Parts: sequence; C-alpha cells; structure tokens
Amino acid sequence: MNDILPPDSAKLGVFERHCRQLFERYGYEEIRTPVLEHTALFARGIGEVTDIVEKEMYTFLDRKQRSLTMRPEMTASCVRAYIEHAVGKREPVTRWYYSGPMFRYERMQTGRYRQFYQIGVECFGVAEPTVEAEQIAMLVQLYDGLGVPALSTLVNSVGGAEDRPRYREALLAYLEPRASGLCADCQRRLATNPLRVLDCKVDAGSEVLAGAPRVLDSLTDTSRARFDAACQALTDLGVGFRIEPRLVRGLDYYTGMVFEIQSASPALGSQAALVGGGRYDELVESMGGPPTPAVGFALGVERGILALPGPAESFQPRPHLFLVCHGDAARRRALVLAHSLRISGLRIELEHRAVGVKAQFKRADKLRALAALVLGDDELASGRGKLRDMTSGQEREVALADLAAELTGGDSGGQPGE
Ligand code: AMP
Repeated sequence: MNDILPPDSAKLGVFERHCRQLFERYGYEEIRTPVLEHTALFARGIGEVTDIVEKEMYTFLDRKQRSLTMRPEMTASCVRAYIEHAVGKREPVTRWYYSGPMFRYERMQTGRYRQFYQIGVECFGVAEPTVEAEQIAMLVQLYDGLGVPALSTLVNSVGGAEDRPRYREALLAYLEPRASGLCADCQRRLATNPLRVLDCKVDAGSEVLAGAPRVLDSLTDTSRARFDAACQALTDLGVGFRIEPRLVRGLDYYTGMVFEIQSASPALGSQAALVGGGRYDELVESMGGPPTPAVGFALGVERGILALPGPAESFQPRPHLFLVCHGDAARRRALVLAHSLRISGLRIELEHRAVGVKAQFKRADKLRALAALVLGDDELASGRGKLRDMTSGQEREVALADLAAELTGGDSGGQPGE
C-alpha cells in the first residue's frame, strides 16, 4: 500500500477530474459506498472460485464476529446499493460512476498494488449493446485526450446463461485430457469453475490454453447477434478494436461482451491493462434484485497515471502570483492583499517568514509562479508596484488595487490537461 504525495497526487487529481468531467457528459452521476461490506456480498457477486475471492480479499471479523471485507472492487457494492434502495423502481435507466480505493492481497509490482484506486461506471437498465460501445468510445476518448500512448482495445463475448453450459462442456472436453499440463489450482478449477482456467495468471501463455476452444464459437445466434451489434456500434463510433478470444476477465459475473483497454507504454511494465469491463445482465437478479441488464467497467488510476506522459510536476497548479515582501510592514500588508486576491479565485503564494528578497524569488521560481510582485516601503507608499512576468522577465507597473483584474485579464496559465 502506497502513500501518494505531491507532485504525484497532482497528476492523480488531474486524471480524476478528467474522468469525472467526461463521465458526466455521458450522464453518469457519482455514487459513494462504504469501503467495508459483508464478505458474502463479494463471494456471491464476484464468484467463490475466482482469484479475488479465493486469495486476494482483506477479510476480518468485527467485534460482533461478523465477517467483513475491504472491497476488492465496486460492482458488487453498486449492485447491492441499487437493490437496497430499489433504484430500478424510481428510474428505468441508472448511470453511476465511482472513484475510490480498492484492496486486494496481490503480489506487488509496478502497476499492481494492495491498495489501489479505481474509477468506474455502471449503467443499469439498458439491454441494448450500444451501451457497451458507448462506454468503450468514452474510454478511448479519455486516454486519447490525455495523450496515453499505444492504446489497444480488446473485446470478446463470454456469453450468457444459455451459452455457458455448452461452452463449459466444450472446454472440459478439451481440458480434462490435458489436465496434467495445468497448475494445481487449475486442476481443481476444472471441477468447480473451468472458465477461470482461461485467465489463470500461472498458466497464461501455456500451450494447453493456447489451443482451448473459443467462447465465441459456442455462442447462440442471439448472443452472437448482440456481440456483432456491439462491434458494429464501435465501428460506427470510429473506435478501432480487436476481437481477443482469450479475454474472459477474472470475475464470474460477466455475460455478453467483455472488454479491456491496454497501453503498450513501457512505463506500465507487464501491467498493460488500463481498464476492464463488460456486460453483466444476470448479476442484479442473482443477488436478489429484479431482472436488470447492466454494463460497466473499472479503470486503474495508478496505471492511468503511469501511462500519462509528462513529469508529475507539470500537473501541479501554478501560483498566479508570488508576493515578494521586503520588511515587516510589507509582510503585514501582503497577508491582507493575498487574502483578498484568493477570495477572487487566484492562487497566491507568500512567504510568512522573514526571508530575503532573493530567496523569495528563488522560491517563486521553484513553485513555477506565473508572476511576482515586490512589496516594500515604496510600493506601500505609492499604492503601485511592478508586476513581473516570471517567464519572460518583463515588468509592468500596476496599481495594487487593480491586481486581481491585472492577473485575471491575461493568461492565467492553467494546468496541463485542464
Ligand atoms: P478488475 O477489477 O480486476 O477488472 O481491474 C480493472 C482495472 O483495475 C485493471 O485493468 C487495472 O487497471 C486496475 N487494477 C486491478 N487490480 C489492480 C491492482 N492490484 N493494482 C493496481 N491496479 C489494479
């Protein structure tokens, strides 16, 4: 579990703001749920025989001996909230987004942590496969807009209730005679949840898995038509994608289209997946709610930030003005002046300690202040001062009373990505 300090936290903040603004354009509204849930929620929602539930959850008994778990993902919590608050009765379509920490006991490496941040969306109530295409297009827009390099979009279908038994049979017929080529966990999974063998981290890349039958070949005509319609919508939206028959995702609740967006940015190391999602039309009902089609995704914030080009410092907000003070009287005046400029919405830096003018300019440079103004006895007496553009070094005389207007009139500098 990591601390995130400035300037990295600034990069994270810009990334998060981008997501919020973009998702809101598509009608998603924020939901917040508790970090702790009953363990049974995840066991039922994600699936008993999944890596997350079997090996990765932070689970403990509370003082009343109830088994609680720190959420390893948010879809199960969203579904719980959707059912608990009978949201489906109030509105036909619900669009939520969330942002927050998730917890998984995983082997740590670059881009893989035990407390990590996810931002995700869930759309309830729409069975039409255009929604998954819309979500994917929204994600591509997000990463493209931020300049994340070398993106690829992978899609597949894992099929629904009608497809699973057929596929399970085909998969077992193939895997059982080859069981000795699988890891011990997968040999056990053959009896419990053979689909999970396909995304085993240990057996990934093994010859046995490479030859396994594809879910797409077992789909009913209806499921295939839905998958094709989602692909067509992606094409209509101008999103390039690749069908990846091995993509099954590590959670049991998916039905229909699943997707993943990866970046080949070297900063990500082997953890190329930026985001994963898909349709889960049976989950709400299986958890005690009304039959409700749904589709959503979760993106990894740390990975987004690793793949985002530019040094973290360039995402830190730049002060509009550094007030450089010369003498006690000036410092007293600067305190009040800074206060009123901040009320006007400007970012103002000032040095509270009795530090020399040169040291203050050095600090202004370090903070990448856009402008500086020296306040000394002369400026206090005349009510005027020299506003220095810290980039060009040019100075112009301004009335102290007009500072707010002077500073907002020009380019406020802003921040990359805003
Ligand atoms: P999942 O919830 O497993 O479908 O993961 C969705 C996304 O969350 C992945 O594509 C990653 O970007 C991110 N993610 C998952 N697990 C971790 C982790 N342990 N550390 C950092 N990011 C993660």
